[in-house]
Amino acid sequence: MARVYNFSAGPAVLPEEVLKEAADEMLDYKGTGMSVMEMSHRSKAYETIINEAEADLRELMNIPDNYKVLFLQGGASQQFAMIPMNLMKNGVADYIVTGQWAKKAYQEACMYGKANKIASSEDETFSYIPDCSDLPISEDADYVYICENNTIYGTKFKTLPNTKGKTLVSDVSSCFLSEPVDVTKYGVIYGGVQKNIGPAGVVIVIIREDLITEDTLPGTPTMLKYKIHADNDSLYNTPPAYGIYICGKVFKWIKKQGGLAAMKEYNEKKAKVLYDFLDESKLFKGTVRKEDRSLMNVPFVTGNEELDAKFVKEAKAAGFENLKGHRSVGGMRASIYNAMPIEGVEKLVEFMKKFEEENL
Ligand SMILES: *Cc1c(COP(=O)(O)O)cnc(C)c1O
Repeated sequence: MARVYNFSAGPAVLPEEVLKEAADEMLDYKGTGMSVMEMSHRSKAYETIINEAEADLRELMNIPDNYKVLFLQGGASQQFAMIPMNLMKNGVADYIVTGQWAKKAYQEACMYGKANKIASSEDETFSYIPDCSDLPISEDADYVYICENNTIYGTKFKTLPNTKGKTLVSDVSSCFLSEPVDVTKYGVIYGGVQKNIGPAGVVIVIIREDLITEDTLPGTPTMLKYKIHADNDSLYNTPPAYGIYICGKVFKWIKKQGGLAAMKEYNEKKAKVLYDFLDESKLFKGTVRKEDRSLMNVPFVTGNEELDAKFVKEAKAAGFENLKGHRSVGGMRASIYNAMPIEGVEKLVEFMKKFEEENL
């Protein structure tokens, strides 16, 4: 068995321990004689799986009782519509556009009401996070929307925007469980799990209860109402059952690592190895303003497209997979999520040093 170092932005690396455990349980989950994939989502065994997953997530993130945890489908992208459909009571929302995902969310919201782009970093290819300490928040805004970690560009909000009392909605797809969060600062925290938590097909929505109402935009499909899913404990219809089971295992794995504070410490140590090298390298350089650098996604370039392509090709041959940058920005990107071991980053840097010597 040869596992590679997988730097994919998503679907992405998962803890080997979790994969092995899932493999062990594949044919017979805890004496049930069947795989979790084959199991009724209304069975006792599955009820335990989903309840434990929720309890472990609540413990990890210290989620207060007045927040619901929903396990949904449709990916993070479906939330781009679900959020305005459920939250636009006044029909107004403010968007901070710091990358492609925030932009898509903004464009989607424009279909449902008055979405205002109150800040953007598009002028410099989304390479920084704008100052959000005193933005022109709309008086009647139902919420202020951010994408907290910009997967494609490698920036991260280090301080949350001053929403002037308005509800904050945050897409945390690519920084979910990478560090401690204060859930009380948000109305909605959501993310697709395929970046840092589990297999594609599950999106987790953590939402304050007072935001869950019958009062949705006209024509909102039943399946896109938070209330339906909240009232049915994420079991209104068949949930992404196997995916939730794997998420549950990852939650337990993170608890075993010491929780989110330990995760943050490890992620900082890991990212530092790569950023320190980028800062001293004569060939490679990071593309993001230093103070806004993500711990999870690290884009870098040589400044020469051919050399970038050569690097990606040689890296792949050496066992470092998926280092090609997003098609919209080019260059390289190393995604170093929770499950990427520090050895992977150290070895990548060794490889980059060697490449630099040979190509400078
Ligand atoms: C990947 C990603 C998305 C889109 O996720 P899907 O599950 O494919 O819809 C949205 N936001 C962020 C921040 C992402 O990284």
